[in-house]
Amino acid sequence: MALVHTLEAQALIELQNKDSAIDEMQKRINAVPAEIKALTDAFEERKKTMDTAKQELIRLKLEKKENELKTAEKDEAVAKHQRELNMVKENNAFKALLGEIENDKKQKDEIETVILELLEKIDLAAVRDKALQDEVKKLEEAKNMSVSKLEAGAAAAREQMEAAKIERAGFAAKIGAEVMAQYEFIRSQKKGLAIAKVHEDPSGKKISCGGCNIALTPQKAVDVKRRDVLGVCDNCGRMLYLEKTVFG
Ligand SMILES: [Zn+2]
Repeated sequence: MALVHTLEAQALIELQNKDSAIDEMQKRINAVPAEIKALTDAFEERKKTMDTAKQELIRLKLEKKENELKTAEKDEAVAKHQRELNMVKENNAFKALLGEIENDKKQKDEIETVILELLEKIDLAAVRDKALQDEVKKLEEAKNMSVSKLEAGAAAAREQMEAAKIERAGFAAKIGAEVMAQYEFIRSQKKGLAIAKVHEDPSGKKISCGGCNIALTPQKAVDVKRRDVLGVCDNCGRMLYLEKTVFG
């Protein structure tokens, strides 16, 4: 237990509030790149879906083109076999050619059916492609706006934090060197919280450390109610105060 004038205890508590606020600002600033990355990743993912849909449309159109070439080939084959029909004299050869022509026509019909199916698929793919392009365009605008907002927010928070740090330094300079050193040491060891408010059970029987939540020993519970002393938590080592003692 350290003897600390109540005014100094109040200053330490205020300093802790300033430091906690600065830490929060820093945390907020640090979180921004990950938030921007998440937005960008989500956008890129949707864009990838759009690119895949576009590729599918191109592939279907190519497939249709290939099948159209095949029907042209079948037409040529029919024409060729019909020319040959005029030249053959033998009945078997004639029959064979007729069979070929029949076969070519049948194959051409099959290819045309495939082309019709492809046309339907192309229509659907084109609708999907257009919808995705529109969606991605809107998504990109929204993403860019959110990123700008986050970046502007981070820049403003940085400025605010720098100002808060300057103000904090001026305030800290007025606190005694020894207690400041103790404060800074505990803060560095205890995740930024050097001085913690104790929580008093409504019954008043149980008082616990606001830093680690462990109940104070009966002696510490008595100490923390005295003015001009600062308790120290046996468990976590943080400085302790009871709000109504220090500010009452
Ligand atoms: Zn504690």
